[in-house]
Amino acid sequence: MIDSYIRLYIKIIILSMCFVVNAQNDPLSTLESTIISHGGQVLRITDPQYKTAATLHNRAIQIWPDLMLRPATFDDVSLALSTLSSLQIPIRIMGGRHSYGGYCSHQGIVLDSALLKGLKIDWATETVTMQAGIIWDDVYKALNGSEYVAMGGLCPTVGVVGFTLGGGYNAMYSRSYGFASDNVLNFTVALYNGSVVTASSTINSDLYWALRGGGGGNFGYVLEMTQKIHRINGTKLPNGQFSFLNITWVNVDIRTALTNWLTFLKNVADGDSRISFNVIVAVNSEGNFLMMYCSFNGPHEEIDSVFGSWLSQNPKPTDFNVFNYTQNDISRVLGIPFPVVNREHVLSAMAINITDAMLDVILNFYPNFTAGIGSWTELIYLHNANKDTNTAYAFPDISFDIAPGVSWTNPDSDPDAIGMSEKFLEKLIAAAAPSKSIVGAYLNYIDPYLRDWETMYYRNHWDRLRKIQTQWDPTWYFRFPQGIPPYDQSSNDSLTLIGRQPWKELTDSYLNYFTSLSTLQIKMHNYVNQPLEDILTNNLLLITNFSLSEYGDFYFHDKIM
Ligand SMILES: Cc1cc2nc3c(=O)[nH]c(=O)nc-3n(C[C@H](O)[C@H](O)[C@H](O)COP(=O)(O)OP(=O)(O)OC[C@H]3O[C@@H](n4cnc5c(N)ncnc54)[C@H](O)[C@@H]3O)c2cc1C
Repeated sequence: MIDSYIRLYIKIIILSMCFVVNAQNDPLSTLESTIISHGGQVLRITDPQYKTAATLHNRAIQIWPDLMLRPATFDDVSLALSTLSSLQIPIRIMGGRHSYGGYCSHQGIVLDSALLKGLKIDWATETVTMQAGIIWDDVYKALNGSEYVAMGGLCPTVGVVGFTLGGGYNAMYSRSYGFASDNVLNFTVALYNGSVVTASSTINSDLYWALRGGGGGNFGYVLEMTQKIHRINGTKLPNGQFSFLNITWVNVDIRTALTNWLTFLKNVADGDSRISFNVIVAVNSEGNFLMMYCSFNGPHEEIDSVFGSWLSQNPKPTDFNVFNYTQNDISRVLGIPFPVVNREHVLSAMAINITDAMLDVILNFYPNFTAGIGSWTELIYLHNANKDTNTAYAFPDISFDIAPGVSWTNPDSDPDAIGMSEKFLEKLIAAAAPSKSIVGAYLNYIDPYLRDWETMYYRNHWDRLRKIQTQWDPTWYFRFPQGIPPYDQSSNDSLTLIGRQPWKELTDSYLNYFTSLSTLQIKMHNYVNQPLEDILTNNLLLITNFSLSEYGDFYFHDKIM
């Protein structure tokens, strides 16, 4: 008896030793323990920090990853990429979590840059070097009190890398100093196999071209980049302050107010890059609201002579104030809290001009009060804002980013909200067709429902971008539904598209139907408001997995089969 106990005991010891040896040899366990040993983090849904770390800016597209790896060193990012790509485990790269398509997350492993927080300002060369986990707020705070500004966004919580890779404009400064992508001097990039390369105008210049406007999530993992910063010297105000004009019209003849503004742009602002505008139009059946943020990168004394005659036209502004603001002040005043309280869907149309027919559409973009959906249109004035045209950003000729948005709280209103904004975009494009005014869509306002997104985001740069992707990421390891496929890969043969339906529409029979299917195609553009069966008519792709989010959404995951 004692003998058999001893034998059992020895067996347990041998088995547990095997388990330890196996665990140590498991490359994923080794990766996790290496990341942790160098000050990084590994987060699972059971970890107290997980929820905050995985929360996306926009709850309408919240997707919870299975595992978050947060390396604290560049070497550990490389190790993660070489380990995971050799195991063919798909990843997403997470930065500031502001992607409107939720493309920094998926139901799988996320490589999160949150702990890569290095930031260095070199005043002598007038540059800032930022690691992948830096958000614009870090940069603005570091520059605050100096006379310098960086080309980041108005919203301080946006990640610097995701912003810059998509072009990245600052509605108040870009007309003076260009897009973020115009200002990058070099990138340090980890490739899918973990090797690290530099991209600049002299080293790997094709990759450098592609990273400046080609979009986050393609080509490689940007570890770090250096950008020019700009000394404000036109305003003669202290501490890098700008004149910031806040002008509003409430319940007036808003069409005339907008037409006067467009005439002012043509006659004055198009030729004076010191003037910038970010305009918000909100209309409903009972009233209207027009608000303009305007910055002037010139002497305060000139404000009257530059803006006076335009602002004295009828209808006169309901309210008009001038402030002296630093970049930090502007982002504090205009920035949106992270995460947003509501669900959001924001789109974009890059426009050469705004015609009367387009104004008709904008002035009829009414909210749906019954379904609790608010609506607005932003007009970001970008005439001559793109200062370096030798980049992948494809819109040097536009004057406006027209960005309609909707906001709502009830998940049941998802189809109505998404449907009404997508229909608005279609109407706007149709209204612009005779004048050929709309030439594409802004990649940084990435829209999972956009038709012909390849041409809309990239125009004639698409083929060159595919060639560059083929060279740097031949197996298409960095991929997502609107990613750039290398030439020997097709964008839809092994990848399903993302979509969502309110979960109340899901009955058990639907679930059975899903699980019994072997193939599935989701018709991205037409499915909103259609019965769910219609979506499943044409079976082409492998079925996706699915889950319910905590907000009650049903997600088709863009899972690679
Ligand atoms: C409230 C708000 C305000 C905005 N304001 C502006 C604005 O003023 N001007 C403007 O141009 N845009 C603006 N945007 C759009 C914003 O620039 C894009 O959504 C941008 O992609 C966000 O980057 P992120 O790192 O915050 O987001 P993430 O969702 O983390 O990343 C966005 C994309 O970049 C990829 N990515 C992130 N980090 C890396 C990396 N290190 N290497 C490679 N790929 C990476 C991700 O995988 C994802 O595909 C705004 C968006 C929001 C929600």
